[in-house]
Amino acid sequence: MGKRFESREPAHESSQFVKGVGPSRQVLLSRLGIETVEDLISHFPRDYYDRSNFVKIAAAGDGRSVTFTAFVLAASLRRLGGGRSIFTVAVGDETGTINLVFFNQPYLEKQFKQGLRIIASGTVKQYRGKPQIIAPEYEFVTGDLDEFLLHTGRITPVYPLTAGISQRMMRRIVKSALDKCRGMMRENLPDELVISQGFMGREESFEQVHYPESWKKLELARRRFKFEEIFFLHLLIRDRRASFSRGKPRPQMPPPYPMLDRLLGNLPFELTSAQKRVLDEVKRDMGSDSGLGRLIQGDVGSGKTVVGLAAMVLAVEKGFQAALMVPTEILATQHYERIESYLEGFPVNTAILIGSMKKSEKERVLDDLKSGGIDMIVGTHALIQERTEFHQLGIAIIDEQHRFGVKQRAKLGSGDLVPHFLVMTATPIPRSLAQTVYGDLDLSMIDELPIGGRKVVTQVVEPAERGDMYETVRRAFASGQQAFILYPLVTESENTDLQAATGGFEILQKGELKDFPLGLLHGRMSFEEKSKAIEMFRRGEIAGLVTTTVIEVGVDIPNASIMIINNPERFGLAQLHQLRGRVGRGGNEGACYLLRSENTGPGGAGRLEFFASTDDGLKVAEEDLRLRGPGEIWGFRQSGYPLFRLVNPLSDHDIVQKSWKVSGRLLGGDPGLEKPENKVVSRYYRLYYKRKMKIPEIG
Ligand code: ADP
Ligand code: MG
Repeated sequence: MGKRFESREPAHESSQFVKGVGPSRQVLLSRLGIETVEDLISHFPRDYYDRSNFVKIAAAGDGRSVTFTAFVLAASLRRLGGGRSIFTVAVGDETGTINLVFFNQPYLEKQFKQGLRIIASGTVKQYRGKPQIIAPEYEFVTGDLDEFLLHTGRITPVYPLTAGISQRMMRRIVKSALDKCRGMMRENLPDELVISQGFMGREESFEQVHYPESWKKLELARRRFKFEEIFFLHLLIRDRRASFSRGKPRPQMPPPYPMLDRLLGNLPFELTSAQKRVLDEVKRDMGSDSGLGRLIQGDVGSGKTVVGLAAMVLAVEKGFQAALMVPTEILATQHYERIESYLEGFPVNTAILIGSMKKSEKERVLDDLKSGGIDMIVGTHALIQERTEFHQLGIAIIDEQHRFGVKQRAKLGSGDLVPHFLVMTATPIPRSLAQTVYGDLDLSMIDELPIGGRKVVTQVVEPAERGDMYETVRRAFASGQQAFILYPLVTESENTDLQAATGGFEILQKGELKDFPLGLLHGRMSFEEKSKAIEMFRRGEIAGLVTTTVIEVGVDIPNASIMIINNPERFGLAQLHQLRGRVGRGGNEGACYLLRSENTGPGGAGRLEFFASTDDGLKVAEEDLRLRGPGEIWGFRQSGYPLFRLVNPLSDHDIVQKSWKVSGRLLGGDPGLEKPENKVVSRYYRLYYKRKMKIPEIG
C-alpha cells in the first residue's frame, strides 16, 4: 500500500516522538489539537517579541499597546469574597513603574516574587493617575535577558499555550519539530501557483513563521499560510458541494402559482419591497433548472418567516412536501401556530415534529411524512433523525442557521431528489465570510424593516443604577407593558455571583417587582411548562418573564417592550442583538437594559457602549467578528468546518477572493486532482487536511 510509504514523511509522524515531548506532554499537546509533527509546526505563534520594539515604561502612554521588560517590585492580593479577588503587581524599569492587574487569579501571588524579571504586554490604561494594564500577557525571564531572547533569535515567537506547557517549553518543542522536518517538507501547492503568486516555499514559510529573520519575511510566510488555510477549505467546500448534488436533479417548479398568490393576497399586511425582491429571487430559482440554494439574511424583525412560508407554499402547490427546521421547540411551536393561521382555508396539511412529543404521535407524523399525508412540516432537530423519510421533499428551510451545523443541513437533503434549499439568519454574515463558509449558497438580503418595524433604545445600566431602572420598569408594568428579564445561567454555580434565572426570579418576586405577576422560563423545564409560561406571557397574564437564552432566537411577542439583560458581559454582541430583537416589535418602542454586574473589571464596558450606540445588526456582527472571530458567532464550531487561525475574513478579503477563484479553476480543469502537477494538492488534501478536519461524509 502506497500509504505506508508516504507516511514516512517526518511531518506525518506522531508529535509524541519529537524531542522533548514524550507520552505525558503529548496528552497536553492533544488539548491543543496537536497530534502530528505537522500539527506541531502548524501551531503558529499568536504574537512575537522583538527587542527593538520594547518600550520603556515612562513611554507607555494611555491607550497604547506595549511590550516591555521590567522587574517585580511589589504585589498585593485583595480578596473580595465569593471567590473574587484582585491581584495587583507593581513592576518597574529604570524609567518608571506600572501596575499589572489580574482578576480572580489569587494563585498568581505565589509566582510574582519581588525581583523577578518579566516581559509583559498589553494595553495601558490610566487609573487614578497611574498607568495600569489589566490582564496583561506576561512571561518570566529566567537567566540573562539577552540570552533569553537570543537563544530564540531576534524576533521571539509567543505561542498559544495550555496548562502544563510553558512558553519556553513550547518554543523548544516546536524548534525540535522544525529541525526534524528540515529538508523533508513537501510543497502542497502547485509550482505554477507558488511562482505566479510569489508565495514563499512551504518549508521556508515554516521556518520564517516561527523564527522570522525579519518582519518582512514573517509577513510573506503568513501570507502563504493564510492562502493555504483558505484554499484547502475552499477545495473542501467545492468537494462537498459536488458530492451533495452529484447527478441528482432539483425539482423544477415553474409558474404560475395561484395558491401562493392567494396566500399573499390574504396576508394582513403587504410585503415590504425587500421581501418582494427576495421572494422574486426565490421564485426564479425554484422555477429554473439550477434550483434554489440560498442564504437569506435579514435583521431581526425584517419578516423572513413569511418569505420562507411563501417558498413552502409554492412547493406544496406543485405537489411536493416542504420542511422548516428551527433550533428550539418554542420557536417551532410559534412558527407552526402562525403558519396554521395563515393557511386557514388552504388545502395544505401541516404538522409539527418536536422531541418532546409522545412517541406514538411522532410515529404517526413520521408515517404521514413517508406516505405523503403531510404537505408541510415544522420541526426541530427531531426532523433529521435517522428514521425520517419524506415522500417527496421539494424544499427544506432552516431558520436561524447559525444555530445549526452544516452537517444537519446536508442530512435534510439526502433523498433521491435534492430539495430546494433555503437558509435564513438574523445574524448577518459579512460577504467575504459568507462566500467562504456558505460558498455553495447564493445570498439574499432583506434590508428593510416593515413599517412600524422594530425600535429599541439600548442602555448600559451600572450596578448603582439598578434601583432607578426597576423604578422605570415598575412604571412601565403599571401602564400594561411587559418585560423579559434575562439571566445567563440556569443554576447558581460556585465561585460566581451570576444570578441564575431561578434565583433571580425569587429575589425579584420578593423585592423590586413584588407587586407584579412574574413567570419563569428556562431550559430545564418540560416543554409543557415552557409553553404554559410563554402562553401566559403572550396573553399578558404575567408582566415579567424571567428567563434564559431559551428565548434567544425568533420568539415574537409583540406586547413585550422591555428586555433586561443581567451580566451582559457574558454574551457575544451578535447574541445580545438577537436578544434585544425580542422587544420593540408590534410598533411599540422597546427598551433594552444591559445590567452590568459588579465583579467584572472595567474591561468590556466599551464593547457594551458600542452595542448600545447602534441598532444596526450588520455593524454589530462585524464588531463581534472582529472581537471574537467567526467560530463563536455562526456556530462554525459545531459546523464541522475548521476555524480560521490566520485568515481574518474581513481584512483578508482579497486572499479569500483569490483562493475562491483559483480553487474553482483548478477543480474545473481537473476535478479529481489527478494531473501530475496537481498531485501535491490532492496528496496533502487526502493525507492530512481531510483527516485533520474530521469531515463528516455526506451522501
Ligand atoms: P424575522 O425576520 O425576525 O424572523 P418575523 O418573520 O418573525 O421576523 O416577522 C416579525 C413580525 O413582523 C411578525 O409579527 C410578522 O407577522 C411581521 N411582518 C412580517 N412582514 C411584515 C410586513 N411586510 N408588514 C408588516 N408586518 C410584517
Ligand atoms: Mg425569525
